[in-house]
Amino acid sequence: MPGNEGENTLTTLKILIIGESGVGKSSLMLRFVDDTFDPEISATIGVDFRVTTINIDNNFVKLAIWDTAGQERFRTLTPSYYRGGQGIICVYDVSSRASFDKLGHWIAELDTYCTKSDAVKMLVGNKIDVEGRVVTREEGLQFAKKHKMLFIEASAKTREGVQFAFEELIEKILQTPGLWEA
Ligand code: GDP
Ligand code: MG
Repeated sequence: MPGNEGENTLTTLKILIIGESGVGKSSLMLRFVDDTFDPEISATIGVDFRVTTINIDNNFVKLAIWDTAGQERFRTLTPSYYRGGQGIICVYDVSSRASFDKLGHWIAELDTYCTKSDAVKMLVGNKIDVEGRVVTREEGLQFAKKHKMLFIEASAKTREGVQFAFEELIEKILQTPGLWEA
């Protein structure tokens, strides 16, 4: 963990949220940053990134969270989106088999463009509030294990797991030597 408090407040981590269109990337970010949920959220008004501060064990860490404003529809993001990202949240929708099946694509793109090889990756199975999930927790867990990712199931709608997901990710980044220091 970081030692000097002055340093910690200056630390800004770049967090990326990737995954298929419609899985709830923007909703997860807005739930985390503003604690709101909009069922009518529109991809066209999606923000590019939001800055917030998180308190982990009395250390203040600034986060720049990068969301996609619809580019992911084309199943590809620009290399600059990935550049310098220290934490990557890869999202699928537990009620969409297709979104889970496309995870391999996102991992491949990540491996190609993410400039930090030791960036911390987290898999988030979103929309667990939805009745009739089609992807089991076990499937998500196995995928995460295989790709050395943290794993959590969440709901941007009910806020279950959302705070915890970001905290876990940030803690892991801070525990990774050389990943966050200037
Ligand atoms: P994005 O394209 O990945 O950014 O997905 P959005 O955040 O725009 O969400 C797509 C749709 O799924 C919207 O209608 C959201 O209201 C809805 N949604 C997002 N997260 C959840 C969730 O946890 N539960 C439910 N039931 N709906 C969600
Ligand atoms: Mg979005």
